[in-house]
Amino acid sequence: MCDRAMSGHARGRRAALPRLLGLAGGLALAMGAPWAAAEGPATLAGIPKPGAMETCPVCGMLVSKYPAWVATVVYKDGHAHHFDGAKDFFKYLQDLPKYAPGHRREDIRAMAVTDFYGLQRIDATKAWFVIGSDVLGPMGHELVPLASREDAEDFLKDHKGRRILRFADVTPELPGKLDRGRFE
Ligand SMILES: [Zn+2]
Repeated sequence: MCDRAMSGHARGRRAALPRLLGLAGGLALAMGAPWAAAEGPATLAGIPKPGAMETCPVCGMLVSKYPAWVATVVYKDGHAHHFDGAKDFFKYLQDLPKYAPGHRREDIRAMAVTDFYGLQRIDATKAWFVIGSDVLGPMGHELVPLASREDAEDFLKDHKGRRILRFADVTPELPGKLDRGRFE
């Protein structure tokens, strides 16, 4: 987290104000925000935020402590599950019977991750993910979400990343490999 705050990256600095506004807006929206997801832009402004005591279904950690890393799955009936990083989000998707018994992939309405630079919620299926970088999340090595290819390439250079992946490139084995510090 310190790494992010101290980054000399221009885009990161410009993101400071929207970050503050975003936090304030999140408080104002709180519960029951209208669903703002739609076709087009990847940003998911209206996606629910984790409650103060909500825990990650994969690792059990409090998600609200890590707003810069939150990933979210929203089901068609409106309820959501939150994660303290994209890695646990992918682990969950790949084994719903284990982490969310009774839930079905086809009932998922939207999936969001948090853009590293802009700290906005973005559509996970449209995000770019960098692995193998020097930026660690709450659960160690991460798939760091970026909003665009350009951002992903900048991040990869600035943070010694190994690879850039799209949503569909994330294999079932990858999250476990990241846990072991393997990035191939
Ligand atoms: Zn977790």
